[in-house]
Amino acid sequence: MAKVKKCVYSFGDGKAEGRGDMKALLGGKGAGLAEMTNIKLPVPAGFTISTDVCAYYYSNKRTYPKSLAAEVKKALKKVESAMDATFGDPKKPLLVSVRSGARASMPGMMDTILNLGMNDEVAEGLIKKTGNSRFVYDSYRRFVQMYGDVVLGLKPAHKDEIDPFEAIIEAKKSQRGVHLDTELDSDDMKDLVGRFKMAIKKRTGHDFPEDPMKQLWGAIGAVFGSWNNERAIAYRKMYDIPERWGTAVSVQSMVFGNMGETSGTGVAFTRDAATGENRFYGEYLMNAQGEDVVAGIRTPLPISDLAKKNPVIYKQLDSIRQTLEKHYRDMMDIEFTIQEDKLYMLQCRIGKRTAFAAIKIAVDMVGEKLISDKEALTRIEPDQLNQLLRPVFDRKEKDVAVRAGRLLAKGLNAGPGAATGRVVFNAPDAEVWKKRGERVILTRIETSPEDIKGMNMAEGILTARGGTTSHAALIARQMGKVCVAGCSALEIDYNTHTMKVKGRTIHEGDWISIDGTTGEVMEGKVDTKPSEVLQVLIDKSLDPQRSQVYQQYEKIMRWADKYRRLNIRTNADQPDQALNSVAFGAEGIGLCRTEHMFFGEGKIGPMREMILADTVEARKAALKKILPLQREDFEGIFKAMDGRPVTIRTIDPPLHEFLPQEESAQRKLAQEMGISYEKVRQRVEGLHEFNPMLGLRGCRLGIIFPEITEMQARAIFEAASNVQGRGIKVKPEIMIPLVGNVKELIHQETIVRRVAGEVMKEKRTKFTYLVGTMIEVPRGALTADEIANVADFFSFGTNDLTQTTFGLSRDDAGRFLPYYLENNIFAQDPFVAIDQDGVGRLMQIGVEKGRRSKKDLKIGICGEHGGEPSSVMFCHCIGLDYVSCSPYRVPIARLAAAQAALSKLPD
Ligand code: ADP
Ligand code: MG
Ligand code: MG
Repeated sequence: MAKVKKCVYSFGDGKAEGRGDMKALLGGKGAGLAEMTNIKLPVPAGFTISTDVCAYYYSNKRTYPKSLAAEVKKALKKVESAMDATFGDPKKPLLVSVRSGARASMPGMMDTILNLGMNDEVAEGLIKKTGNSRFVYDSYRRFVQMYGDVVLGLKPAHKDEIDPFEAIIEAKKSQRGVHLDTELDSDDMKDLVGRFKMAIKKRTGHDFPEDPMKQLWGAIGAVFGSWNNERAIAYRKMYDIPERWGTAVSVQSMVFGNMGETSGTGVAFTRDAATGENRFYGEYLMNAQGEDVVAGIRTPLPISDLAKKNPVIYKQLDSIRQTLEKHYRDMMDIEFTIQEDKLYMLQCRIGKRTAFAAIKIAVDMVGEKLISDKEALTRIEPDQLNQLLRPVFDRKEKDVAVRAGRLLAKGLNAGPGAATGRVVFNAPDAEVWKKRGERVILTRIETSPEDIKGMNMAEGILTARGGTTSHAALIARQMGKVCVAGCSALEIDYNTHTMKVKGRTIHEGDWISIDGTTGEVMEGKVDTKPSEVLQVLIDKSLDPQRSQVYQQYEKIMRWADKYRRLNIRTNADQPDQALNSVAFGAEGIGLCRTEHMFFGEGKIGPMREMILADTVEARKAALKKILPLQREDFEGIFKAMDGRPVTIRTIDPPLHEFLPQEESAQRKLAQEMGISYEKVRQRVEGLHEFNPMLGLRGCRLGIIFPEITEMQARAIFEAASNVQGRGIKVKPEIMIPLVGNVKELIHQETIVRRVAGEVMKEKRTKFTYLVGTMIEVPRGALTADEIANVADFFSFGTNDLTQTTFGLSRDDAGRFLPYYLENNIFAQDPFVAIDQDGVGRLMQIGVEKGRRSKKDLKIGICGEHGGEPSSVMFCHCIGLDYVSCSPYRVPIARLAAAQAALSKLPD
């Protein structure tokens, strides 16, 4: 590890050493604090220890660069003089927070400690200074609690257990006969401090550290350490955040929202993070500190209430909201604290939002001239568009449920959409249930960062406490999950795994339905119907004028089409799929698999006859029966695609996939064909392969049984000429799979071209067509120059190319791939995102060599990767002409292709 030059960046008094664009070094939080300081917003002074120090820490056995201690000391001095207070001095004590913050936001995944610098002496001094002993002991007990949890590791031991400190608080509250933390008085708080310290001593064997400097270094180490806690690791996996990024540590002087009724704390978004509406969206609590709002311990008040309760502060906050939106030109997520009627900003970052909010905000901000249409496109994560296609509850069905008295309660509409599932009451259960195939609604009093994996497994998330900025809501929106938060009518009992609501008891495993668009919670299942976008595009049951969501979607797609260079095709082999994909914007079919057609009505019989035939004649006779059926299929597809190119792949899978494997089915087939069971059994056995993926399949089939290719070519060309005869343009492109040697292609190409000539002659017509190949084995890519001399086009079959490049079979990878991913042997699943260094390198070679032989060789991709944003970006960069993906991913590919064209390099 190289030496770290500068470890610490100060901010305060209107100037900062860092800037907003230094997220990589200062973390999102550190950069945001620096930027807000520089634009003169009220930010308490502090300093940020850079992520370089984190990297050093982990590559040097958890030690720090030598210069760090002195830099921290110096920076602390600056804070002391800015705040006119001294760390550890009871006369005018400085208290600080020690905060985590990585380059990407990881809400609540890492640790933060507040009120650090507190000890018995400092507490007494602070009481003298403020005359507010309740505030002092409340701050003190919070500090001991957080320090005990984060630095000393006192956590719940079991999933049904509550936090050990919370347990002590609960006991205290019931002993005093009160419900809220705020009802505990100064003596109670003081008592809690003592009890907490005792619990720490008992569980860890160590005394709580009284020396502030010792506390500070303990906290810094714990925050760096929290980069590698279990939930942070899980979160990084989920969002592909590289381990090497590390976290920064920000040390900041405290401001106190818990000094009484003129103090408070809040979290807000500059626009509605769920719907995108341009309104101030957030919550606050008076006489509260830190995580109180997010943790859902008390249900906070909507920010609009602040306008009535404290118009002066509200006005100031609202003007900061506008300053920030103008400055960042985006929707921001902010944290603030009011200390005795004075407002402080504690955090700002780009706000996470649902897909609905993302498209609305992007479109609105273009309208407001804050951003350009190009920028708008970069504001939406392509994968998020899936949310717009998800089902919504059918209004009629919901009315029926409501009339039947099944409406249980209403909470906050924190994450739009419809979700139905069985109730589970903790995150580990959600994981277990999901793994056994159940759909679950994770139902919690409130969620915490520990729950992240379980939340990811759930169809929807329901909480009894917390607002629209609570942890549950925040994470749900980020994950694109349906979420109803703060549904206070629910009385959840973790111990018995039940909840009481409206006089009824809901047990674990019972079905409920939650509507994240309205906040309604309903008993039982409620039927859904397609999303508004699908109602407009696919069902054609909704007038586009009546759907705002559709109109925004359409605008984004139009902008995307304006800037993208890649063409977008789809993988479809049925006319209805083809029609849907056109509605989604597909410009052609990149892969029409013909084998699916053999399974259709009336086709599997002749197909089996063909496979079981002993002689060429018998095989031809069977193929003759298939020909008209296949021709009809192609006609349907050509018609649906209406002049757009259609790439049809000749038969690809090993033949035994078409044959019945069980005895009863084989006997039935024998009877149908009038041959003996024994013969069928032998033939099926004879077709057995040790490794079918590498066996008689792809072009090898067409070479060994040329009459199959011949029949398929005939079906395609006859269909083309028939459809063309009806005045519809056709552009067939015949694609030969699994070619590794140019001679394989020549063999098949010759047949295809001969049949094309024959059909033109017979039908006395002319049509244009292409013959190309899939590049899906390494030798195909490596000899692409030779192959390009024969092929009119290439299409990368990246599913097989990944299998053959890695030498692994996707169907058997389940045994080890999860382990590989879990343990970072593979950073990503190569079947999801193109492995750019290996498979991608072969693709690059294929493109270069291919175009060396044929300058404007058309090249595309038709593997699953064609609809995955990072792979689309890669395809753009290596100069492909098009990507082809499944119909429902076409919008994603369109947006990803535009983003690729607009950005020079991926982040
Ligand atoms: P997270 O990344 O989990 O949001 P933060 O570092 O933002 O963690 O801190 C947790 C809570 O503590 C937030 O509500 C934040 O506003 C509050 N907080 C952090 N530092 C201070 C401070 N110096 N003064 C007052 N409140 C603070
Ligand atoms: Mg925060
Ligand atoms: Mg293949």
